[in-house]
Amino acid sequence: MLLISCPNCGPRDETEFHYGGQAHVAYPESPNDLTDREWAEYLFYRENTKGTFAERWVHSTGCRQWFNMLRDTVSYEIHSIYGMGQPRPDLNTSGQSSEPTQPGEFTQAGDFGQAGEPGLAPGAASPTATTPISSEGV
Ligand SMILES: [Zn+2]
Repeated sequence: MLLISCPNCGPRDETEFHYGGQAHVAYPESPNDLTDREWAEYLFYRENTKGTFAERWVHSTGCRQWFNMLRDTVSYEIHSIYGMGQPRPDLNTSGQSSEPTQPGEFTQAGDFGQAGEPGLAPGAASPTATTPISSEGV
């Protein structure tokens, strides 16, 4: 159970909140110029980070305000909570030593398909191909 500090209400139980997905996914500047693939990648493709991840949360049973959270998806440690529209905080300045991956912990060779294209349909772009659409800090 997480204890989440709402920017407006203070520390509240996790059950008062709802997860809102990856933060900082910018709306395309010119959506009409996107191909169907690029539009689908904007809509559906999200990072699946193991480690520190920026995500959106809403205090649904409290003030009903959205905010961003920098959370470790492995340890569930909450590094930072910051407002919508604010840039992702730089953890390097806070002395955090968060190594996102510990080799061999979950990755067993062969379990997740061939390297580079895990779980994607044939011809689908790799998840890293979604990065040009989003721009950080929006
Ligand atoms: Zn609140």
